[in-house]
Amino acid sequence: MDIKKIYMDANALLEGHFKLSSGNHSQFYLQSAKVLENPRTAKLLADELAKQIRASGVKIDTVCAPALGGLIAGFALAQALDCRYIFAERVDGKMSIRRGFEVTQGERVLLCEDIITTGGSAMEAGEVVKSLGGEIVAVAALANRGFCKRENSDVTTKPNCKLPQNIPFFALADFTFEIHSPDNCPLCKDGNEAIKPGSRGN
Ligand code: ZN
Repeated sequence: MDIKKIYMDANALLEGHFKLSSGNHSQFYLQSAKVLENPRTAKLLADELAKQIRASGVKIDTVCAPALGGLIAGFALAQALDCRYIFAERVDGKMSIRRGFEVTQGERVLLCEDIITTGGSAMEAGEVVKSLGGEIVAVAALANRGFCKRENSDVTTKPNCKLPQNIPFFALADFTFEIHSPDNCPLCKDGNEAIKPGSRGN
């Protein structure tokens, strides 16, 4: 399965000059929502991810996704794995689990994102799950930005990766494009202004 082609075909791999949520700049931006707007594509990707997870032998009781980014990918993956699905959301900046969702003692939870950059949001959701008695047994995402090592890839873990190294991380592809700090960005030096994805209709 050529994930990059699927992202390109869906106009989900944007080229330009983007200001990322981290404050850094990049020539490329991944907009997973554009890939997932087609439920058939979402199912295709989730089925492929589920295949990897099943082959690994890791037993999953529940998929938990951090909102908003992981909601659709997480739901599609839970459907493909035929397991329970819950989500975590930020309330006043703090990740929490609401909506009457319960986590039982020892419940085996996989955290699912659309894209893992450093894994920060996923692990924040993971801390909440653990505080309720759940166990984080795996992490999954459609795409990996190349800062964390995923199963079946040669990409190595970078110092800013926040995922624990003792559980598997499953993703369909690595998108390892460069990011630049704003004071050392070649695109800024060319005189272009960086835009925040989403601010101009993207
Ligand atoms: Zn720039």
